[in-house]
Amino acid sequence: MTTLESRAQTLRSTLQDYNYHYYVMDDPNVPDAEYDRLFRELKSLEEANPELVTSDSPTQRVGDKPLDEFSQVTHKVPMLSLDNVFNHDELLAFDKRIKARLERNEEIEYVCEPKLDGLAVSLLYENGLFVQAATRGDGQTGEDITHNIRTIESIPLRLLGEGFPAVLEVRGEVVMPRAGFAAMNAKAEAAGEKTFVNPRNAAAGSLRQLDSRITASRPLDMYCYSVGFVEGGELPSTHFDILKQLNVWGLKLNPEVRLNVGADACSSYHDDILAKREALDYDIDGIVYKVNDLKLQRMLGFVARAPRWAIAHKFPAQEELTTLLDIEFQVGRTGAITPVARLEPVFVGGVTVSNATLHNMDEVRRMDIRIGDTVVIYRAGDVIPKVVKVLFDRRPADAVAVEMLTHCPVCNSAVTQVEGEVVARCSGGLYCHAQVKEAIKHFASRKAMDVDGLGDKLVEQLVDQGLINTVADLYCLPVDEVAGMERMGEKSAQNLVKALNVSKQTTLKRFLFGLGIREVGEATALNLANFFGNLDAVMAADLELLQQVPDVGPIVAVHIVEFFQQSHNVEVVESLIAAGVCWEEVDVDHDQVKPLEGKTYVLTGTLTMMARDQAKEYLQKLGAKVSGSVSKKTHCVIAGENAGSKLTKAESLGVDVITEQEYVDLLSHYGIEVEI
Ligand code: NAD
Repeated sequence: MTTLESRAQTLRSTLQDYNYHYYVMDDPNVPDAEYDRLFRELKSLEEANPELVTSDSPTQRVGDKPLDEFSQVTHKVPMLSLDNVFNHDELLAFDKRIKARLERNEEIEYVCEPKLDGLAVSLLYENGLFVQAATRGDGQTGEDITHNIRTIESIPLRLLGEGFPAVLEVRGEVVMPRAGFAAMNAKAEAAGEKTFVNPRNAAAGSLRQLDSRITASRPLDMYCYSVGFVEGGELPSTHFDILKQLNVWGLKLNPEVRLNVGADACSSYHDDILAKREALDYDIDGIVYKVNDLKLQRMLGFVARAPRWAIAHKFPAQEELTTLLDIEFQVGRTGAITPVARLEPVFVGGVTVSNATLHNMDEVRRMDIRIGDTVVIYRAGDVIPKVVKVLFDRRPADAVAVEMLTHCPVCNSAVTQVEGEVVARCSGGLYCHAQVKEAIKHFASRKAMDVDGLGDKLVEQLVDQGLINTVADLYCLPVDEVAGMERMGEKSAQNLVKALNVSKQTTLKRFLFGLGIREVGEATALNLANFFGNLDAVMAADLELLQQVPDVGPIVAVHIVEFFQQSHNVEVVESLIAAGVCWEEVDVDHDQVKPLEGKTYVLTGTLTMMARDQAKEYLQKLGAKVSGSVSKKTHCVIAGENAGSKLTKAESLGVDVITEQEYVDLLSHYGIEVEI
């Protein structure tokens, strides 16, 4: 066997194995990008050496065989795949081929559609009634999934209107919207069940169920994009008009579908949809361009497994393969020790990735991930890259398992782990430089004290050189020494000191957030500031009082109390205040205190000291219900100038009446000062 023959054979059998896992098991063992690379290699090998093509080559076939458990459906019109292009030049070449074949110079009309990442399905309607649904299977024969398709609400069981052919086969993609996918996986995880890798596999797995109750419980949707077999009726003569007609009959179309003229317009459409990709509620993996005119489609015809009149323009991969070079441990602000994957750099989701979070050791053990492993990295949009899978069959013999450190990699203090918690922590506290650095970075960050120009690198330098040890040291930085530091200088040092001075005028919320108390995020810091109004009250609060603050539960309350019990923390707070850090006291938010809870107030007449909406809002803040009419149940009527029938009625029912001035006094009594 020649080297080429042997390579072709290896590629065929590898791709067949991948096909089986992807199409039959709905559980792919490599990312699509890897599959596509090998597929392209086989295709170009076969193109250059046609004698190597075998009839069972994946380049000649679609999908894989249907599962035996389902009854089989023979497609009267085969369900094909699509050829791919991966960039604009290849798209231009496709357009050129089309024009050459059709011997046309004028631009071609293309229908541009998102390439939905789900499962291709065929729906059969007889006299407008839904009678059968099938998967694509191997293109010739699919699985009968009629019972499952009936559970998808967006698929009409009877077509709307009239004029449909006696037999109409509609094709489209069943997808699982991302939000539904995330919720479904979260539920499965909580129940200790298997989760799906992505929405495509989840959609495919959900449809290929023998028990349609399972399908019914899954969030599925379907977009229609073509027709198959048609008998006893006429359809429009262009693809775009057919789609519009399907929509009139009640079938769902994807809202992004557009008609464009020429390859350049297709390219712009591609760029627009790519920019929108993350905002869509369903996964797409590219664009499909289809020649609009059916007459031209017929002239172009088909090749082995795909039409010549359509092409899929694939988006950059969001999943890629790479090697795990090492697992390192990072120490966070609160001492949490996180394993981080150091990776052979790989281009995925539009950027080169060389690190990925591994969350915690439980996760490392659950995935059984080892140094030297080949792993799948997922990155979409701005999401932090993560390791989603280990390819065990590619594990080298010398792969190394990693265990949690017993000592902090930075300060060598013991690593501790509270029973029942997944996170291990360095016990070094402020002795640990890593924790000090992270605490200072957090304090200076935009949402905390917002110190302009104090970046992560600079904080690290300042701590390493012993210039600062706590956040309080920031406000007495020796300018000369800072100016002498690497990449600094007189001007930058002065700018830094200026920025630090500006940051001193802050808010209680920013200050509390900046202190970095465990589990006190921005929202909790705001609630604390609003509830207590000043720092002394927060510091003095006990567990019981703290738990009256919205969002503060027993655990957070303990963190807050413990934080202020540590004398070194109190010293830092005092030094900061002594250095001039200040804020305006917060008006206590009366949302918490509801003295008028359960009382009904009525506003009537003309108010002169505040707008009526404002008056109503204050009442609601204090817990009162504001009603539009007076009854026996009314507790009090606030009567402005020229009050009429409501005032009379209140008086006749013996309901309390107060004037606007009395109302303003009442507000003042509860701490709300109305500016008049
Ligand atoms: P395809 O996904 O490249 O293209 C054809 C399919 O696109 C159609 O069958 C249909 O399901 C879908 N589609 C989505 N939107 C469409 C639209 N608007 N109009 C028409 N069709 C639309 O082809 P394929 O043959 O199903 O699969 C091949 C691809 O699947 C490969 O390129 C690879 O990325 C992936 N695959 C991956 C593995 C793996 O192991 N990871 C294995 C096999 C296949």
